[in-house]
Amino acid sequence: MMFPLVANKRIKDSLTSLISQERLPHAIIIEGDLGTGKRTLSRYIAKASVCDEEARPCGVCRNCHLAEIGSHPDIEVVTTEEKKASITKDQIEKLRSIAYHSAHTAKRRVFIIEQANTMNPASQNKLLKVLEEPPSDVVFILITPSTEALLETVVSRCLVLSLFPPTLKEATDYLVLNRNIDKETAEKLLIEEKNNIGKAILRLEEKKESIGRAVAHDFFDAVEGSSPLSAMLSTVTLENNRGETLKFTEELSEILINKVKNAKNLSETAREYTRMYDALCELVPTLTTNINLSLFFTALTSKFSAIKNK
Ligand SMILES: [Zn+2]
Repeated sequence: MMFPLVANKRIKDSLTSLISQERLPHAIIIEGDLGTGKRTLSRYIAKASVCDEEARPCGVCRNCHLAEIGSHPDIEVVTTEEKKASITKDQIEKLRSIAYHSAHTAKRRVFIIEQANTMNPASQNKLLKVLEEPPSDVVFILITPSTEALLETVVSRCLVLSLFPPTLKEATDYLVLNRNIDKETAEKLLIEEKNNIGKAILRLEEKKESIGRAVAHDFFDAVEGSSPLSAMLSTVTLENNRGETLKFTEELSEILINKVKNAKNLSETAREYTRMYDALCELVPTLTTNINLSLFFTALTSKFSAIKNK
């Protein structure tokens, strides 16, 4: 199975050798910003810990498969309970009581503590007791944005893996290959998100799910087809939704900018799209006033149709 993170080569090399030599430490901290791959890496290490094959994790054996679907009996994930802001002392207490049981089917047990940074000092001290005398066949993985949130005594017992975002080129290549988007869009998004692949993917998914953004494409296609009535109809679902209407305008301006870029400079089409873009920019500020959204869409449709029919 391939190492799941882009870049972070130093971590890849050291983990690969620790895994192949059966020298994984009992406690590992994975630190890094949101979106740098902490969770992904924790699942990879968990798989490698329960997989029996020569090249671990193989990704195909029964242990790997159960780990993949989150049902491996020897992999326990501790995460904040519903409506609670932090990992509680009780959760750590429970973890302590089962940590000394032997593994069910794998040769090791893995405990992943997500949001480890939310443990208060009392909980951390409880955990520390297990880390000081770890059961021989257990791996603890603590996930945190930064080790600063953890007691020094805890950190000193762990191997710390610090994750960093990849370079712009590495991240762009990854998105183009795995998310089916063009290089320019990927680069623009990644520059805005400081090369953070996880955050860029979140933005892409948000885009897919936004009705406003979807409507922007229908609206634009209808204008292109010189059908102002369809354009107007496409926006009906947004008339009571100011938030999605704002996303509609963001997406529409992106569509127009791309159209201008792809049209030949100074061509009639480029001028047409530029005029539409200007008309949109003129109307958007009215959204911050209490304008009736249906009036906004009527004005936009009539301006776009006028430009199109010129
Ligand atoms: Zn396997």
